[in-house]
This record gives sequence, structure tokens and C-alpha cells, in this order.
Amino acid sequence: MKIDVLTLFPEMFEGVFGASILGKAKEKGIVSLEAINFRAYSTNKHNTVDDYPYGGGGGMVLKPEPVFAAVEDVKMDENVRPRVILMCPQGEKFTQRKAEELAKEQHLVLICGHYEGYDERIREYLVTDELSIGDYVLTGGELPAMVIIDSVVRLLPGVLGNETSAVTDSYSTGLLEHPHYTRPAEFRGWQVPEVLISGHHANIDVWRREQSLLRTLQRRPDLLDKAGLTEKERKWIAEKRRGDGHSSSE
Ligand code: SAM
Repeated sequence: MKIDVLTLFPEMFEGVFGASILGKAKEKGIVSLEAINFRAYSTNKHNTVDDYPYGGGGGMVLKPEPVFAAVEDVKMDENVRPRVILMCPQGEKFTQRKAEELAKEQHLVLICGHYEGYDERIREYLVTDELSIGDYVLTGGELPAMVIIDSVVRLLPGVLGNETSAVTDSYSTGLLEHPHYTRPAEFRGWQVPEVLISGHHANIDVWRREQSLLRTLQRRPDLLDKAGLTEKERKWIAEKRRGDGHSSSE
């Protein structure tokens, strides 16, 4: 996969692209990650990329020419149509589903805004997606771009050491993940649940599924409707909701 980020602050990406999982994915040649300063595509002598808004008012607006030119320049070839993604607080809310969808692409181009906004023609005629990482406003699109790139790259085959770890992550299964414990079995008097040290894998799977269901019920009940639960699990959840539940889905 090739990922190009168009930004006015490419230095912000140096640490993120070089460290941890992203750094390793790059080293292994699974992904190419480039942060490109689109100021280099400005066509005026002062290298400006923004201008005053037509109609007046505060704030500066990103001009269309450098952004269009940069996207056209990073295209791989005629056969690969990149997903051109605008970082935008007004965009579609970014989710694990969207990360899974983007992980199937060959080429992503992420555009990081700054200032008040973009010339609307960028939105209308250049981009394929507008993504927001949440209902709050950041200074620029760099942090959202890092969030999106990290969540996409970790899904690429060969990136995570243990292939199953992304599959069981929260949201991948449609539920929140079950709790984890490691050694010691007792810490300050707090015990690890008995079942996890029993060595009985079928029981461990049942316990983990129940915990995952319970955690989702307690923290994100909105996810349960779309989580593809079995009939038995739906009944179990209904009992838990009424508070007259059994302690097991068995
Ligand atoms: N005036 C814009 C508005 O009200 O929609 C906000 C502009 S914001 C200060 C500057 C840039 O930061 C945006 O163009 C976008 O690239 C990025 N940005 C800010 N918050 C974001 C969010 N929640 N998700 C994605 N990008 C965001």
C-alpha cells in the first residue's frame, strides 16, 4: 500500500512514521509512507497556499491549485485510482469499519487542512471521502491523519506479529474486547479469574465471549444490535438487562 499525506507540516510525521508498528511496516516494505509539503506546489512567487475568503469574514482559506497539483503528482498510474481523503470535522465519522474498507485499497492520499477551511471545489471535485475523527475541532488535519493511518496500517497482512490480535480487537468483532490478565496470578491480594488459569480452552472461550458481551452491554449497548449475536446470546443479554440473569450463557 502507498500512503501519501499532503500537509504544511511534514515534520510532524517523522516520529510517527519511524516508530513502532508503522516504522516496522515501512521497513518490511508492506507500506510506503510519505508526508509531502503541498506548499511546494504553490504557483505564486510568495509560495502562499491560502487566501482571504470571498465574501469577507475571518480566517484564511486553502487555495485549490496547490492541493489539486499535489494530488495529481502523487498518483501511481492510470490503473490505480487513489482514495483521496479530506481531513474534516464535518466529514463522515471514522470507524473501524472504515479502517477495514481503506485497508483494501492500494493508494491513499490524505489531505490535511489548516486555517479556517478549504476552497469548496477541493471538496466537490477532488476528494473521494471526507473523514472526521470526532465531534471536536483540532488546529489541523495532521493528528487525524496519523490516527487514520495507524488504524489502517495495523490491519495490513504481515504488519502485526500475531495475525489474530487485530481480529479480536474491540470493534473488529462488533463488540468490545474481553479483559486481559497476565502474571502474577495474585497481585496485592487481587486474583486472576480462576477460569483463565484452568488450562480449559473451551471454558476460557466461553468466559471471554461473556465478558465481551457484558462489557459491551455496560459501556456501549448501542453496538449490540449490529453485533450479529446468536439467539441464545440475545436472550442472555435480555436477562442481564432485566437483572434476573443467569451467570452464564451456557
Ligand atoms: N472551520 C472549520 C469548520 O468549522 O469545519 C474547522 C477548521 S480546523 C481549525 C482546520 C483543519 O483541521 C480542518 O480543515 C481539518 O483538516 C482538521 N480537523 C480539525 N478537526 C478535525 C476532526 N475532528 N477530524 C478531522 N479533521 C479535523
